[in-house]
Amino acid sequence: MTARTTAAPRIAVLGGGIGGLATAAFLRREGLDSTVYEQAPRLAEVGAGLVVAPNAARQLRRLGVLDAFRDRAVRLDTGWEFRRWQDGTVLSSENLADSCERLYGEQTYTAHRADLLAALQSRVPAGSVRLGHECVGLDTAGEAYTLRFADGSTAGADVVIGADGVHSVVRDTLFGAAPATYSGLCAFRALVPAPSAPEFARRPAQTLWIGPDHHLVHYPVSGGDLVNLVAFAPAGAYTTESWTATATVEEFLAEFAGWDPRLTGLIRAAGTPGRWALLDRDPLTHWSEGGVTLLGDAAHPMFPFFAQGAAQAIEDAAVLAGCLARGLDDPAAALRRYEGLRVPRTTRLQTVSHGRAHVNHLPDGTEQRARDTAYAQEDPLLANGWIYEYDPEAELDRMAAAR
Ligand SMILES: Cc1cc2nc3c(=O)[nH]c(=O)nc-3n(C[C@H](O)[C@H](O)[C@H](O)COP(=O)(O)OP(=O)(O)OC[C@H]3O[C@@H](n4cnc5c(N)ncnc54)[C@H](O)[C@@H]3O)c2cc1C
Repeated sequence: MTARTTAAPRIAVLGGGIGGLATAAFLRREGLDSTVYEQAPRLAEVGAGLVVAPNAARQLRRLGVLDAFRDRAVRLDTGWEFRRWQDGTVLSSENLADSCERLYGEQTYTAHRADLLAALQSRVPAGSVRLGHECVGLDTAGEAYTLRFADGSTAGADVVIGADGVHSVVRDTLFGAAPATYSGLCAFRALVPAPSAPEFARRPAQTLWIGPDHHLVHYPVSGGDLVNLVAFAPAGAYTTESWTATATVEEFLAEFAGWDPRLTGLIRAAGTPGRWALLDRDPLTHWSEGGVTLLGDAAHPMFPFFAQGAAQAIEDAAVLAGCLARGLDDPAAALRRYEGLRVPRTTRLQTVSHGRAHVNHLPDGTEQRARDTAYAQEDPLLANGWIYEYDPEAELDRMAAAR
């Protein structure tokens, strides 16, 4: 177990995704070294897009990587532009161009995941990332922790951060293996070269077409060179959960038969779309045991319907690094404080993201009309203020003042 120590602890971060690299970057910013163990032979994100909301942009600025990130991102003028499935009637939207920075001090961006990963990686010393290290076990007996890897090698650590995603080995070690359940939903996704995409999909807007049992999202990424397209539909018997599984354009089109004909052109441009089943997990009430904790999707996987999973992983990283840096004499207590600051917020986001699956997929009828009326009366930029205004530094200051 982790002993009280005044020397800097050996910190192992398991997983070199957005959460793991953000953790290493924020620890570095606090003057703490860490080692990232990643199973993949190289750091690369398979193609897909992300919305980087003001709460995530604030953290990129703090790391000093926002300017570099912006070079390849797209600054949005319009966010959460909900459209009716049949004819594209706009039900509501965020006017980001006029208000986002004034309200939250940052803009909203869309980006290719690889560009976000590269921005975070630029703040992590190259020598501290060990690729090709698939962790197969974590021993928690004894004076310190031992990570065991598939190639038979091991590594010791005083603090272990499980940023190893939705199938986390660290979570299984701490809380027992419990496979995620299938949500009944699957996602189709594609990156469409901008010249092949219709004009409406090239606007700097995050657009969501919502209708019975389905919804479809698109926005430009990669400096406008590509349009990210992701669509959600009933999974039926489909249970493959892989970023590399594919579908056909015909299967994709069949799911959206009868929708606004403008979408047909966009879906046709999807080439060979990816397809995967969305997993579901109930929120955990705590994440840490001694000097071991969880972060990002390992701790709180969420449906992508508030576009906040990566943003929450980055916030986790900032809070975790702050707690550890302020509590090096007792890392286990620091991790409990981290968890105490983060669990309520991520649980709320898991819950509201889950709820949106029902709301976005209502069949036409009374409930759908009530939803559309509520959307029309709401300014989502203000309604989502609790998400966008969050600042880990303020949380850490509040914690320090309360101690
Ligand atoms: C369709 C979709 C759209 C999304 N849109 C958005 C969005 O717009 N905005 C947003 O903020 N979020 C979005 N998200 C969520 C976001 O992608 C995730 O929340 C985020 O990537 C989680 O990062 P992570 O680092 O915790 O986990 P992961 O990205 O899963 O990274 C885990 C890493 O750990 C490694 N690993 C796993 N097991 C081991 C092991 N045993 N040993 C060593 N390494 C291991 C993996 O190889 C991987 O590199 C979306 C998600 C989906 C599915």
